[in-house]
Amino acid sequence: MAEKLSAVKGMNDILPASVPRTEKLPDSALWQWFESAVRTVLARYGYQYLLTPIVEPTALFVRGLGEVTDIVEKEMYSFVDSMNGDRLTLRPEATAGIVRAVIEHNALYNGPLRIWTLGPMFRHERPQKGRYRQFHQLDVEAMGYAGPDVDAEMILMARALWRELGLVEGQHVRLEINSLGQPEERRAHREALVRYFEENASTLDADAQRRLHSNPLRILDSKNPAMQAVIEGAPRLMDFLGAESKAHFDAVRGALDAVGLEYRVNPRLVRGMDYYNLTVFEWMTDQLGSQGTVCGGGRYDGLIGQLGGKPAPAVGFGLGIERLLLLIQELGLPVPSAAPDVYAVVPADAPLPTVVAALEALRAAGVRVLQHGAGPDGPGSLKSQFKKADASGARYALIFGADELAAGEVTVKALRDGSGAQQRQPLAGVTAWAATLKS
Ligand code: ATP
Ligand code: MG
Repeated sequence: MAEKLSAVKGMNDILPASVPRTEKLPDSALWQWFESAVRTVLARYGYQYLLTPIVEPTALFVRGLGEVTDIVEKEMYSFVDSMNGDRLTLRPEATAGIVRAVIEHNALYNGPLRIWTLGPMFRHERPQKGRYRQFHQLDVEAMGYAGPDVDAEMILMARALWRELGLVEGQHVRLEINSLGQPEERRAHREALVRYFEENASTLDADAQRRLHSNPLRILDSKNPAMQAVIEGAPRLMDFLGAESKAHFDAVRGALDAVGLEYRVNPRLVRGMDYYNLTVFEWMTDQLGSQGTVCGGGRYDGLIGQLGGKPAPAVGFGLGIERLLLLIQELGLPVPSAAPDVYAVVPADAPLPTVVAALEALRAAGVRVLQHGAGPDGPGSLKSQFKKADASGARYALIFGADELAAGEVTVKALRDGSGAQQRQPLAGVTAWAATLKS
């Protein structure tokens, strides 16, 4: 036999529920359920769908995310196109690509835009539960809007999605918010921060030493326990915010308060990309260890201009789909069944035209029908077919036995209610009883 190949480390197959998995990743039915909830909720808020390429010029991310961010420094899958020498990168996040597309198509010409996309992202990280090298994000962006109303809308849209999926905010996921102010306010804070860390240089670890002048804000994000005391005492950006930034933040808070959404203001919440200003937020869980952030976002008023577009304010978020579905799985929340309504048991001698006509009529009436199919050794015994019917999760087995067919009927057997009740139904006009089979 030929040698087997495996997926690239940290990149996973999303498999149907019926395929046993070694890693505890969510199955494809859970994904589809999530995607349909996303479509429902985002339509309620008037967001439109778009798709951008998975590969972009490397320069887009270097310019967009910032040269000294974790992603650009060490997580990007970058390569040279061997055909023409172009420097390309598998997208590590969605916002930069969307901004590129919006600028390229002059998409803000007719006014602001509310858009979303969903798909794979790539980061060269150490794979572990909730952290992969190919992972998937839902990404939502509102461009051309400056007010705190849209910041609140972003946060509340995520909450609406939690509710649609059965997650309870405050219990399963909790919200943290912060304001990063404006660039000049951040500059003043940054200077104070560098001064403070210089005065406390002996307490900094190697990583922080390295970042002291390149990206001191990221020191605040350090998870090193030995650094927590010095971080705690650092100057707070909140104290450097001007009146306008404060008012913007207060307005966002006011909107959240108005609908009774609880949150924690976390002055240390900084996020990984350089492009954020004013509002930033994260939805977190305690269930996934250090992979606790399921959704993060904020305002990025400078990015469109920075990438060569006519400056326009914007706000958005990215949601980690694997993490969210792992959370739902771990909490054991009820998810709708993807099982068929009916499993058709088809003995070897059953007349195919009769079977096909009946099953097509049921499907046309909206019943989910899984027809038993023959393997290389034939259709198998009735016993083995019933086993498969059971394993499929179907609520009914439909049995095309010779006796029933001779009388123009099929047998319908209940598989799930414990009764095992059987009854015969006429094949003529199957749609008349199809409704009783639908879930
Ligand atoms: P973290 O601090 O966990 O590395 P991040 O700040 O790098 O997250 P973002 O860039 O804000 O994450 O991406 C938004 C969301 O995408 C995260 O909140 C998370 O749910 C998810 N995510 C990010 N990186 C990964 C990854 N390597 N594997 C799986 N999900 C990820
Ligand atoms: Mg990260």
